[in-house]
Amino acid sequence: MTSKNVISWNALIGGYGNHGRGPEAVELFEQMLQERMNPNHVTFLAVLSACSHSGLSEHGWEIFHSMGRDNRIKPRAMHYACMIELLGREGLLDEALALIRGAPFKPTANMWAALLTACRVNENLELGKFAAEKLYGMEPDKLNNYVVLLNIYNSAGNLKEAADVVHTLKRKGLRMRPVCSWIEVKRRPHIFLSGDNRHPQRNEIYQKVDKLMLEISKYGYVPNQKTLLPDVDEQEERVRFYHSEKLAIAFGLISTPYWVALQIVQGHRICGDCHEAIKLIARVTGREIVIRDASRFHHFKHGRCSCEDYW
Ligand SMILES: [Zn+2]
Ligand SMILES: [Zn+2]
Repeated sequence: MTSKNVISWNALIGGYGNHGRGPEAVELFEQMLQERMNPNHVTFLAVLSACSHSGLSEHGWEIFHSMGRDNRIKPRAMHYACMIELLGREGLLDEALALIRGAPFKPTANMWAALLTACRVNENLELGKFAAEKLYGMEPDKLNNYVVLLNIYNSAGNLKEAADVVHTLKRKGLRMRPVCSWIEVKRRPHIFLSGDNRHPQRNEIYQKVDKLMLEISKYGYVPNQKTLLPDVDEQEERVRFYHSEKLAIAFGLISTPYWVALQIVQGHRICGDCHEAIKLIARVTGREIVIRDASRFHHFKHGRCSCEDYW
């Protein structure tokens, strides 16, 4: 580009970060400073999240602490949320809580949500319950918070509390909507619900899923025991083998040539079982699979995901 502005830098840094290429993102950030381009709060968000995704914690802290120096851009809630994720990836939950408590402003919902994710990944029910209750109090009409809280109570065996959540949900008239994934093939979007039977090629799609599951089981795939689900409800759990993302992938594999990377979009966070399965599907088929879910980009390649199993 002949003339670069802060937006082009941000887009580039964010793109590398989103796909798990942290070192390049940090390098670009440094190059940007050298070229005397002033970073804005979006730049800091992009580079901090790149550090967090790629486990570059030293770089991350250094950049975080450099904010606010010389009265430049002060860290905001979104930057704190990034650092909470960074600590969460290292399993440092007490430190993450301390960071929230030490913030010079009232902690926001996205900070508690970042802590909740950290608790889910690290399977800390106690602190997770605390974070989920905070969120629930702050955003009482957000359906996701109920689902998360419900799943936490169920996993912890707090059946009475779980029943209370369901009761509140009903009283408020909030209903869980079915989740879906979509994939574009030959410029046409194809939308799949979990356990969906409406696609004209459903037989082929289901056969492909079954074949893939059999194939990846040779590489050590075992269907996940019930784990803490991010934001899918119990009904989804029952059709786990045919979650919407698995159907979309199977359809993508049978409808496109082998060199095409599959691109899938969905509004819900991917479940742990699908994540494991897709890593292995990418490995056995040699395909690149990119899923944009509610939380981030997952770039599956050679049996790994760019999120490093944290989402
Ligand atoms: Zn799933
Ligand atoms: Zn991932």
